[in-house]
Amino acid sequence: MHSVGHEVCNFTKNRGFVYGYVQPVGEAINIDKLGASRNDEKIEGVTVVWTAGPTSGGTVVVGWYEDATVYRSLQPIPRPNAIQRKNGVETYRVKALWERSVLLPVSNRHLLIPRAVKGGIGQSNVWFAAQKESEQIVRRVIKLINEGSTDLPDVDQVTSMVEGNPRLVAHLRRERNATLVKMKKAEALKATGKLCCEICGFDFKLFYGAIGEGFCEVHHLLPLSKADGIVETDLKDLAIVCSNCHRIIHRSVPMSTIGAVAKSLRNHHG
Ligand SMILES: [Zn+2]
Ligand SMILES: [Zn+2]
Repeated sequence: MHSVGHEVCNFTKNRGFVYGYVQPVGEAINIDKLGASRNDEKIEGVTVVWTAGPTSGGTVVVGWYEDATVYRSLQPIPRPNAIQRKNGVETYRVKALWERSVLLPVSNRHLLIPRAVKGGIGQSNVWFAAQKESEQIVRRVIKLINEGSTDLPDVDQVTSMVEGNPRLVAHLRRERNATLVKMKKAEALKATGKLCCEICGFDFKLFYGAIGEGFCEVHHLLPLSKADGIVETDLKDLAIVCSNCHRIIHRSVPMSTIGAVAKSLRNHHG
């Protein structure tokens, strides 16, 4: 379920429960799709995954309820707490035990959920994830739920820059994929015998000696598209870069290209 501005309220503890609000298309959530009978007002035992995020930065999983009860129609919160009152939230559509809810810290919100693609969630705020095409997304979400929230991304960017940009976090995680980095390095070593920055030519081994051997960073040339979270990475989409050039590439949003940084470097040094 895609929440807009209700994140804090959806995860605040109210006498042992969490009360989730989402705006469906129309008046009711079609709980028949979750297996409810026509006359049922609610259905229990549902895993509800909450997403949020501006479309520009990507839609990400922010948390979930396990063993939740989903109501067909809007329900009044029995006794709204201070946070709910402050935000004018008096109704809910999903309820769960507070212990069964997880709100991911901002730094762990890196599971992008594609919207405008086949199998993606589309523009609706309520998504049942039942189509064949969504299987892969569902598998990823289940993996995240099972592994919990300990998987911190190795992102050494300015935190505030990363926080507002889940797509950047996903990008950085993608280019830190250990297997791909290893394969890219092996390919470069085989072709050229060294790991030189494709922008400035810096060679860690040459400069630092033995302790620099085998070191370089790998940059992914393509920014994540709206459809992403799913695409496979090709070695030709990766570039060998030094740490300085890599930082400069990612310093701007959208990120610079290898060519642009190389050109700027050349111009500056004459
Ligand atoms: Zn460089
Ligand atoms: Zn990069």
